Order: sequence, then C-alpha cells, then structure tokens
Amino acid sequence: MKDLRQPTEPFRIKSVEPIKLLSRVEREEKIKAAKYNVFKLDAQDVYIDLLTDSGTNAMSNRQWAALMMGDESYAGAISFRHFEKTVKEIFQKKYVVPCHQGRSAENLIFSTLLKKGHYVVNNTHFDTTRGNTLHKGGIPIDLPCPEVDSLDPLLFKGNMDTMRLEDFIVKHGADKIDMVIMTVTNNSVGGQPVSMKNIKEVSSICKKRKILFFFDCARFAENCYFIKKDEPGYENKSIEEIAQEMFATCDGVMMSSKKDGLANIGGLIAVNDEEIYRQITELMILIEGFPTYGGLAGRDLEVLSVGLKEVLDYSYLRYRVEQVRYLGEKLKEAGMPIVEPTGGHAVFIDAGRLLPHISPEGFPGQALTIAFYLEAGVRVVEIGSLMFGGIDPVTGEKVNAKKELVRMALPRRVYTNSHLDYIAEWASKIVADKDSLRGYKITHQSTFLRHFTCELEEMNTEDIKINS
Ligand SMILES: *Cc1c(COP(=O)(O)O)cnc(C)c1O
Repeated sequence: MKDLRQPTEPFRIKSVEPIKLLSRVEREEKIKAAKYNVFKLDAQDVYIDLLTDSGTNAMSNRQWAALMMGDESYAGAISFRHFEKTVKEIFQKKYVVPCHQGRSAENLIFSTLLKKGHYVVNNTHFDTTRGNTLHKGGIPIDLPCPEVDSLDPLLFKGNMDTMRLEDFIVKHGADKIDMVIMTVTNNSVGGQPVSMKNIKEVSSICKKRKILFFFDCARFAENCYFIKKDEPGYENKSIEEIAQEMFATCDGVMMSSKKDGLANIGGLIAVNDEEIYRQITELMILIEGFPTYGGLAGRDLEVLSVGLKEVLDYSYLRYRVEQVRYLGEKLKEAGMPIVEPTGGHAVFIDAGRLLPHISPEGFPGQALTIAFYLEAGVRVVEIGSLMFGGIDPVTGEKVNAKKELVRMALPRRVYTNSHLDYIAEWASKIVADKDSLRGYKITHQSTFLRHFTCELEEMNTEDIKINS
C-alpha cells in the first residue's frame, strides 16, 4: 500500500486560536457582500485560510520567549547583534541589514545597484521584484529552465536556463546586466526548487563575466530540503551546511523573512562589499530607519534570530514540505488535477483542466476559488487570467494567463493533517458537482493588480452564450 501519510507534526500545541465555520447561508451572504473577491472577505469569516504562506507562520515557544527579550534601543541594540550573528552564520556575508519586509530589501538593493535601461536576469522574478526593478528603470528578464512547462513531475523545475543566460550575456553585454538573481524556491513557478548544480553553474558564469550574483531567498530552507532529498551528494549534509554552501556562491542576498524566517514580519539584506553596504545604509536611514533596526522592532529581530535557526531543523522541514505533498496527493485522489511535483509551500490546482466548460474569460480559477469558500469555508486564491489577464497596456489587446490555476498556500506550523483531510473531502464534493459551476465576470476593476480589488458576479446563461 502506498503510504500517503505525511510525517506526524514534530511539535505539540501550547497555545490555540479558535476558528469558526460559518453556516452555508452566512457564507453565501459574506461572499456576495465581498463581490465574489476573496481579498475582500474578513479573515474571521474564513474557516481555513490558505490565501498565502507569507507572514502567517505560527511562532514557537522559543520565539515568543525571545520576543520578550527585545532590546528596543534606537542604535546598537543587543537584539541586532543576535540577528546579525545568526544571519552571518547562515548567509556567509560580512554586512547585515535588517529590513521590514522583502520588498523594502528589493527597493534598497535596486535603488543602489540598478542603472536605467539595464537588465536584471532572474530564474523568475516574483511580482514585487519585477515591480521594483521596473520602478527603478531596470528591465526584468526571466530565464526559467525549459522543463518548467512540462507536465512531467521532474525535479528542480525552479532552475535557471544557463544556456539562455550565456546567450543573453553575449547578445546584450555583461556591462548592461546589473545583476543576476536566483529566486529560491522559485515562487512564481509554484515554489519549485533550484539545484545546487544549477546555482554553481550560474555563479561561475557571473564570476567569469563579472556580474553581481544575488539570491532572493524567501524560502531558502525549503530549497535546501529539496537539495538534501533529491540531489546526489547532499543526502548526508545538514540543512545548515547546504545553506552555507549555497550562499557561499553569491555576492549578496535579499530575503522576505515572512516565509522561512518563521515570523510574521521582517526581511534582510546581507552583502560582502563594503561600498554596497555603505550606499544601502545611507539610503536606508532616509526611508527605513537606522541600520541596526531597519524598520523593525528589537523584538522582531529576536524572533527572527530564533526563527532563522529553527527553520534549519530537518524534521521540521520534512514535515513542512511533505505536508504540502500530502495535500497534493489527497487533492489528486479527490480528482483535482494539480501541478506536479508539488513545490515547497503550496499546491496548485489546474482549474482550466478541471473546468473545461468555463473559458478563460469566465475565470475558471475564480469559479473554483468561490466553490471552495461556499462549500467548505476555505480561502484559496486564483492565479490565472483574473490575476494576470486584462488589457495589454502596449498593444491594447485582451490577454489571458498561460494557465488557469488555483493556489492553496500552507502557512507554516498552523494547520494539522486533519484540516487537510477536511479540505480533501470537500474537494471530492466539488469535483462531483463540477459541471454545475459557472464562470464569473468582472463588474468593476482597477488598472493595476486588479485581482486585489475587482468586483465580480456569476455569469448568467446569456453571458455564457456570448462567451462561447
Ligand atoms: C514574498 C516574496 C517577496 C516579497 O516579500 P514581502 O515580504 O512580501 O515584501 C519577494 N520575493 C519572493 C520570492 C517572495 O516570495
């Protein structure tokens, strides 16, 4: 018999937060009032919230204890020294700058290192990384490996395409590329991992061409777990050793610590170059705060120094990543087509494949998202044409996303196996009734990032005829 069971939670629960399932009638009222946009729901009207794994982590007893030890001095707090020591150990860099979250780290780095009209090459830019690059006049280029679109469950689908990287450098010139960034795990392609081999190849190309090599490493520990599990030669190394080997290859890192910092807020920059450090901290004082707190409280720095160590624990990471795999297996059993293999932090359901009777114009991912809330009180998020489609600002043409997906992101250490079993049971029911699901149409939208604020309504028979 195939063992579907995920590793049992390597913790016991000391503090609990009650959650409540509203009645079906109440859920119908709430989602209607939210104009069928789950971002407009009040969190207390959600039973199980899988909207994001960012900042939603549960802290450990050690982190809560550390929080009380926060030194709130303006400059030179001992909490900063604790944070600095931990970050130096893991990331192997001389200079450490705390930031209040990932995007402020991006803002500082790109403001300092990007020149207008120059390129930033990434395995795949995350939304805020892309946004901040564009905001500073840079040109973001994604070079994911060709395997990324394959339906086969291949390993290390998060890799960068090194052949295209070399070609790009030859074509555009190394002096026009201000930075190469490796995003681990590769969030925008489903939290897929990057192999150490790929990291080292990209690093040596950057060294040879004298291009800065950075990591965007919100989920670095989850990436290290995949390397230990699947990459030959790493099975006997500790997660910390793998992290150190990984970060020894780069010039600097930026991190959103709302993910693998196991905290609710925070971010960081670490670099080796003194001149870069000096420029970053000069700007920092202007927009974020003094360099020993970086927009965070002393207690946040204490929480992060504990969290960044705890996340390196193999039994935690095994439980974590295997919990994601377990949810994926359960959803597959329930008849949901998912993207395989599952990555480190979320399961992606292919709503386009599940609901072929709804065209991309009817947002099949949104139809499934609404079904999960109505049936089960579960909040998930559409990652498809509602998020990425719309009118192309350059050509004026209507564009749809490449895939119509729904993401179930798992907060760290928050939900138990039993919550996941509950979700899978309702997934079976949704699959059984899938032909009754209808598409949605937008009744109101903004120009940028419309998915956060748009209003929708269910399509009626007339709309469906027009669209098909
Ligand atoms: C979350 C995330 C960011 C942005 O971080 P925030 O803390 O949300 O500002 C940047 N890059 C990646 C890969 C992320 O996952």
